[in-house]
Amino acid sequence: KNSAHEKWKAAHTFAASYYHHLLLNTVEGEQALAYLHERGIDEETIKKFQIGWSLPGWDNLTSLLKQRDYNLSDMEACGLVVRQEQNERYFDRFRGRIMFPIMDEKGQVIAFSGRILNSDADEAKYLNSPESELFQKNDVLYNLHNARMSIRLKKQVILAEGFLDVIAFTRSGIDHVVGTMGTALTQNHITRLKRLSTNFVFCFDGDKAGFEATKKAFAATEAKQVQRTAIVLPDQKDPDDFVRTNGKDALTKIVEENGLSEMAFTMLYFRKGLNFQNDTDVLRYTENVLEALAKFSSPIEQSYYTKQLADEVGIDQSVIE
Ligand code: ATP
Ligand code: MN
Ligand code: MN
Ligand code: MN
Repeated sequence: KNSAHEKWKAAHTFAASYYHHLLLNTVEGEQALAYLHERGIDEETIKKFQIGWSLPGWDNLTSLLKQRDYNLSDMEACGLVVRQEQNERYFDRFRGRIMFPIMDEKGQVIAFSGRILNSDADEAKYLNSPESELFQKNDVLYNLHNARMSIRLKKQVILAEGFLDVIAFTRSGIDHVVGTMGTALTQNHITRLKRLSTNFVFCFDGDKAGFEATKKAFAATEAKQVQRTAIVLPDQKDPDDFVRTNGKDALTKIVEENGLSEMAFTMLYFRKGLNFQNDTDVLRYTENVLEALAKFSSPIEQSYYTKQLADEVGIDQSVIE
C-alpha cells in the first residue's frame, strides 16, 4: 500500500510540474497567464504556489503518464485520470483549467483543484480531485506546508476559504494563513493547527456563506482550548476582493485591529437583517443575545455585552440584567 502511495505522489509531482510548465512557458498557457496577471497574481506567486494550466484536450496528461509507465487504473484511483464506462478508455480529469496543486503538511502534492477561466460557464467553478487514501478534504488545509513556520513565529493562524484568498494574504505579506477550501473546519484540521498555534483568526468570505462558516468554526472550536476571533469583511467581499479594492495595507490593518470575539460576532450574526424600529425584532434579538450570553460568556463579558445590548435596543440595563 505504501509503495502505491509513493507512486501516486510521484505522479502528482510530475503532473504539477507539467501543468506549471504549460502555464509559464507555452503559447497554450498564455490566456490563463493573462487571466492570472489580471487578478494581480505575478510570476513569483505563480511559482511559489506552483500554479499551472491543464490543456483543454482529452488525454494530454494521460498519454504522458502512459509513456512513463504509470498504470492507468492506478492513476484513476488517485484521481488524475477518469475512465469512460463504455470503451474503457482513459482521459484527463482536468481539462482547460487553472491548476492549484494541493500539498500535504510535508509539501508533497496529493491532489489538485482546477478553476475554469470563465466563471459564467455552466460547469462548477472549481473541480477537485476525488477523495482517496491520499487526499481527504477533512484532513487537508491549503498552504499548511508553507505557513507552518510563520504560524509558529506569529503564534497565530488565519483561516480563509479560498485558494485566491490565501494567495491574497501572502501577497500582502501575511504568511501565517491556511485555506479550508470551502469545507467546514473539522476536528482533524483543528488538531493539526493546534500543534502550531492556539490562536485562530477566522477570515472567511463576507457573504452569507462565509458568515455561516464563521459561526460553525466558532462552534467547532468551542471548548478546544483555543483563542478565536473573527474578521468580517465589508460589502460581501472575500479577502482577495478586499485586497484588490482596498489594498494590501487595508487587509493588514483590518486583521490586526478588527478581530471580533465570539460574542461580538454572535451579536452581529443575530443583528443581520433585523429592523430595530420593529418591536418583534428587538425582542427576538434581545432573547437571542441573552441566550448566547448565558451559554458562553464569563461574568465580565456578560456585564460588558449586556450594556452594549441595552444601548442597542434602548432597554434599561438593569431590566436586562
Ligand atoms: P474565485 O475568487 O476564484 O472566483 P472563490 O475562492 O472566491 O473563487 P468561493 O465560491 O468563495 O470562490 O469558494 C471558496 C472556496 O471553496 C474555493 O476557493 C474552493 O476552494 C472551494 N470551492 C468552491 N466551489 C467549489 C466546488 N464546486 N467544488 C469544490 N470546491 C469548491
Ligand atoms: Mn465563498
Ligand atoms: Mn470567495
Ligand atoms: Mn474570490
